[in-house]
Amino acid sequence: MRVKTKQIFVGDVPVGGDAPISVQSMTNTDTKDVDATVAQILAFEEAGCDISRSAVNSLADAQAIPQIKERTHIPFVADIQFDYRLALYAVEYGCDCLRINPGNIGEDDKVEQVVKACKAKSIPIRIGVNSGSVHQSMIEKYHGVNVESLVYSALEEIRRVEQFGYEQMKVSIKSSDVRTMVDANALFSTLSDYPLHIGVTEAGPLYTGTVKSAMGIGALLLRGIGDTIRVSLTGDPVEEVRLGVEMLKVLGLRQEGVELISCPTCARTKIDLLSLVSKAEKALAAQHKNLRVAIMGCPVNGPGEAREADIGIAGNNGSGVIFKKGKVIRQVPEEQLLEALLDEIQRMEN
Ligand code: SF4
Repeated sequence: MRVKTKQIFVGDVPVGGDAPISVQSMTNTDTKDVDATVAQILAFEEAGCDISRSAVNSLADAQAIPQIKERTHIPFVADIQFDYRLALYAVEYGCDCLRINPGNIGEDDKVEQVVKACKAKSIPIRIGVNSGSVHQSMIEKYHGVNVESLVYSALEEIRRVEQFGYEQMKVSIKSSDVRTMVDANALFSTLSDYPLHIGVTEAGPLYTGTVKSAMGIGALLLRGIGDTIRVSLTGDPVEEVRLGVEMLKVLGLRQEGVELISCPTCARTKIDLLSLVSKAEKALAAQHKNLRVAIMGCPVNGPGEAREADIGIAGNNGSGVIFKKGKVIRQVPEEQLLEALLDEIQRMEN
């Protein structure tokens, strides 16, 4: 059961309430390099991204927003670190959401100006709290950077925005420690109904980062917590999107696209399964049909083990069979297996 949150809109993408859980990523280009930033956002879109974020570090970055938005199709979130004037510029130049930490923005009059600018254009604010930005008063009160100090810092940040009569917010509480991040988001969701952006911050390189993110994001999603997700990796941010989409798919939270099932291989494996699976994964990455595709190593156990798959391959000596719903429909030479599979998928409805 999904934990009920209120709904906001980031551009035309609903976040919270009963909206589908969205996938986000953040560009690592120089934002004002419009061609590079647009190319990366288009790659995000291709991989299934719903919302993109870019750092706005200068007036020139803010001025690039309209050009970037004109050539891309998903909402643009402006990430502001300290300077409230950059937040005002980003709003002026048309960002769809502001990511700020009011604690870093400074005094109330600066926060007020930013909130009023957002309110005038109905632009939501993402309040981001992480281990590095916990209030000193909270650290003292709760004896360190921990679940309580993270959560009560987030609630304090929310209050600082709400005092100016604005409630279009989503909240992220991140930590590089998976347990802290999970427990903090779980506690927050019992205290507030603002939609939650979840992720493990500074998760690390591809291998570690994938495990950490899947553990943290997965643990929360399985409890019905989380309205939008970001996998954070030291690496290509397009991979973050692919992993985020995959996490939603394996939990049945996103239906679009192929879920690839493949066997672990064993002494009965009859074909070069590794190479076939990796080629199929690439070829099916942009497939929008909602299908479970199985690639199995042998004809004896393969189709049976993958009975719940819509379509699949099972290897045989120098050849393989294509099966649908566990039943063999045709036999083809090994080198033509991928082409035959793609051809069958092409002809399938949905
Ligand atoms: Fe082994 Fe066949 Fe099972 Fe693959 S499907 S692990 S080849 S028994």
